[in-house]
This record gives sequence, C-alpha cells and structure tokens, in this order.
Amino acid sequence: MLKPNRHYADLKDSFLFVEIADRSAAYEKAHPEQLLLRMGIGDVTLPICPAVISALHAAVEEQAHTDSFHGYLPECGTPSLREAIAAHYARRGVRLDADEVFVSSGASDELGALLDLFDQDSAALVMEPAYPAYVDTNILAGRQILRLAANRGNGFLPMPDSDTTGDLIYLCSPNNPTGAAYTRSQLSEWIRFANATGAVILFDAAYEAYIEDADVPHSIFEIDGARTCAIEICSLSKTAGFTGMRFGYTIVPHELQRDGMNLHSMWVRNRTTKTNGISYLLQKGAEAVFTPQGQAETQKQIAYYKENASIWMKTFDRLGLWYTGGKNAPYLWIECPNGMDSWQFFDLLMERIQVVGTPGAGFGTSGEGFFRFSTFGSHVDTEAAAKRLLQWLG
Ligand code: PLP
Repeated sequence: MLKPNRHYADLKDSFLFVEIADRSAAYEKAHPEQLLLRMGIGDVTLPICPAVISALHAAVEEQAHTDSFHGYLPECGTPSLREAIAAHYARRGVRLDADEVFVSSGASDELGALLDLFDQDSAALVMEPAYPAYVDTNILAGRQILRLAANRGNGFLPMPDSDTTGDLIYLCSPNNPTGAAYTRSQLSEWIRFANATGAVILFDAAYEAYIEDADVPHSIFEIDGARTCAIEICSLSKTAGFTGMRFGYTIVPHELQRDGMNLHSMWVRNRTTKTNGISYLLQKGAEAVFTPQGQAETQKQIAYYKENASIWMKTFDRLGLWYTGGKNAPYLWIECPNGMDSWQFFDLLMERIQVVGTPGAGFGTSGEGFFRFSTFGSHVDTEAAAKRLLQWLG
C-alpha cells in the first residue's frame, strides 16, 4: 500500500499568524469603535515601480504578435536576465558567471527545491529564532534539525564554536525576524567553518537591499572562500515589491563540490528536470529592476520603508528599549519591556494602544521575551503607533 510522507506529522501547526489574526479579530469584535494599527505585517505595501510596469506591458504586447512571441524559454533563465543579475553583482565587486545565476519564482520556492541537492542524512543547522521555512522544509525531508540560539548576548548573530556541527547551515542576513545583520568578519568566520567541515551555507539574502552599513555584505560572495561552500538565495519580493509577482534568483558557484559531485551541475540538472522556467513576462519585469531607472525607483521605495525604520529607532531609543534591526533591515526586534513575555506584550499593546505586532516566541523558543515590528506600513500609521507607544511607556 502507498505510504504518505510520515514527516508531515512532525510539523508543528503554523500557529503564529493564525493566533495573531484570531486575537486581533476578537479584539475588533469586542471594540468595533477602535482602529487597530497593524505594525507586524511582513508584506510590502507600495505598488510595483513604473520601470517594471512598462516592461511588463511591453512584454505582454510582444506575446501578441507572431514575430515577437516567445514560447518555452531556457529553464534556468533568459540569458539577458542572468547577465543583468551578474552585472548587478559585478557593480558590487562580485564576479559571477551568468550561468551561476538561476532564476526562480521566489526564495520560498527555492528554499524547498534546493534541498534536492542534499542527502537525507545531512543535518540542518538553523539559527533560532528563524524564518519558519528553514525548519519546516527539512522536517518534511526527514532531516535532523540542529539549532544555535541567537540571543541578546550574541546580538542575535550566533557564531560557530568548537561544539558546532551541521551540514546545511542556514544564514539569513539581514535577518527575519530580528533585523540583525552579519558583518564581513563574522561571515568570514562562518565561511572558514563551512570550508573546514565540508558543510554548505544556504545564505538567504532576501533583505540585502536594506543594508546601510558598509561593513555588512550584500552577498556572501563578497567574501573570499564563499565560492567553495555557499549557495545564495535572493528575491525581488522585498527589493522591488514582487511578493505578489513572484520572482527570485539563486547563485550556485561552479566551484561548489562535495563528495566528488558538482552542485552547480546538479542544480542545472535539477532545474531542467523539474521546471520549465519562469514566465517570460515576469523575467522581463525582473530585468527592468536591474536597469538604472529600476534601481532608482526601487531604492526610493526602500527609502520610504526606511523612514519608518527611523521612526521606530528614535522611539525605542527614547524609551530605552533594547533592539536589533532597523538600520539594515525592514524589521526591528525589541526586548519586551518590564520582563513581559512575547504574548503578554502582544495583548497589552493591543489593549492599551491598539497596536498589533509579532510576538518573538512565534519564531522559536529563543524568541521568547522579544517582539518584532515591521516597517512596511504607511508613515501615518507608523508615526501614530510610535506616538502611542511613547505615551504609554514613556
Ligand atoms: N526568506 C526570508 C528570510 C523571508 O523573510 C521571506 C519572505 O518573507 C522569504 C525568504 C520568501 O521570499 P519570497 O517572497 O521570494 O518567497
């Protein structure tokens, strides 16, 4: 008889966002006169920029005519787009061959798909609190999950030590949920560790566009040694508002080998077997993000979100709250005031000032006692929420 994948039973319910929605709905029902300010949202709110919209329109028009119509495209991405992304890296001093860039329908899809490259017996090492997909995709594959605790002591940026083990190392920098970002020297240490132990780093760079500090790399490939131990997963979701469009890209370097097998060749084989690529329209839209106009327009949107970050940072500084993030990320991660746990703070924040955020405990046990605010709301809402917080806790 057919046996289903028994590891589905090992998944925990995705309780966090359901619970937030339930508690918020209950509050709104009991207090219909009150307007909740939702400051925990992880989705962008600004629309797609004009450079991308006009590229999409042009691509639609091309599909309408026999002489410009495109059918199937190369599975790993159109050459012009792969080159545009490689050129984008080159402007930051990272040399990539265009065929090391693989287009995808988003970082989430890739986080699941890439696991095809690794044996079931390899253990995943996750920094906790963690983006839930790192844990859940490996649970589904029946892999052992090892955890390194991020905490206030290590600035929510755990580093390897002599006891650290793990084959597949997940590094997310700038981080969701904590907003903390690894410096060049910290990432170098992880690269040394991976090269010495034979581990592979899966580097999630979904928030690289928010980096301000010169000492924080946008790409792990800015650092020597990464080409023999790392894969980078990136996305236009938070860079160009593509959460509903779906586009990402993955870098697998030619030099990445383990146990006599070349992971770049394996990934080409995987993609040409399991996908027929990404839609032509999307690829043309994505390519526009990497033009000078696209870069200027998307950076303006990021600057908008960053103004929200600066409102939060000033507020937390005035209140003397400990936090990470904001500077290099669209998230801020505060220590709950007065020793409250994450859900106690959630409830009080909603009851006292009608602000909704995200309890840190929902990202793993080391998130307990912390709380995530996001910067994807409007200036008006963010200013109003920050003012209420100052009045309440100030
Ligand atoms: N990685 C991290 C750390 C994220 O926070 C997100 C989305 O919130 C993703 C990946 C998923 O990105 P995508 O929309 O490209 O699937």
